[in-house]
Formats: sequence, structure tokens, C-alpha cells
Amino acid sequence: MGLLRGLLRGTLKNMGDVRFLSWRDISGDFWRWKNFTPEEFASRGSGALLVVPEFMDKIQALRAALGRPMVITSGYRTPEHNALVSNTGRSGPHTTGRAADVSIHGEAALDLLSIVKAHGFTGIGISQKGPIADRFIHLDDLPKDIGRPRPWTWSY
Ligand SMILES: [Zn+2]
Repeated sequence: MGLLRGLLRGTLKNMGDVRFLSWRDISGDFWRWKNFTPEEFASRGSGALLVVPEFMDKIQALRAALGRPMVITSGYRTPEHNALVSNTGRSGPHTTGRAADVSIHGEAALDLLSIVKAHGFTGIGISQKGPIADRFIHLDDLPKDIGRPRPWTWSY
């Protein structure tokens, strides 16, 4: 009984997630997050994209509340791509479709940080050193139960 309920919950939680071999296969009807493009959320190199609507809705609501541009420098990553660019190997937050790196700095970064938790984000990584163009904030909404501490914040 408990197992069945767990399985059902797992299924429901993943309902609506859609995998694309390339962001180019996505039609305008499907893509409803007006301040973002499929391309900026796609895995660099292959162009593959895992869309998790629940996460995308949070990102869009955050963007609306912030009222400033949020350029995504990394969204979904295939396990192969993640292993190349992150010390989290083949299974980091970006491989779940529930993570984004936002190019942002200064006052805009502070404004973002002041509202992210209220918008449901649970993983906040802060990179605010070095050239301004390289500064970013990582956001994800991973749940507590997947082997990483959440809610959590860290610096790079
Ligand atoms: Zn990240």
C-alpha cells in the first residue's frame, strides 16, 4: 500500500515533463514561458532539452516579479555535458531539468536573492567574483529527498 502510493506519487511528480532531442523540435504552442527561449534552456552542444513545466513556471513567475532581464547561461544539461562542465558528474541538478544559471550581478542579483526562496527555489549557488560578465546565480528547486541537502546555499 505504502509502496503503491509512493509509485503513484513518483509518477504524478514527473507528469508533464517532456524530453526533446533538440530544442528546435519545440513548437510555439508548447513553449509558454514568454521571457525565455527553448534554446537558452537546452543542453549546450547537443541541443537536447528536458522541460519540467513546474520548474519553468517558477522561473517565469520569478522573472515577472523581478521585472528585469534574466539571461540563462545554462539550463538543462545532458549527463554527458554535465560531466564535462561540473564537479557533480553525470547527475548534477542541471540534469534534472530543474536548474538554471542566471547571468546577473550587483543590485539585480541582490533583488533576485531577496525573492528566490519565496518563489520555491531550494538550491541557491552564488558566483559573484571576477569579471561581471561571468557572474551568475544558480537556481534549482530540487526536493529534500534526492540525496542533496535542500534548502541550501553555496558559493563557487
Ligand atoms: Zn547551475
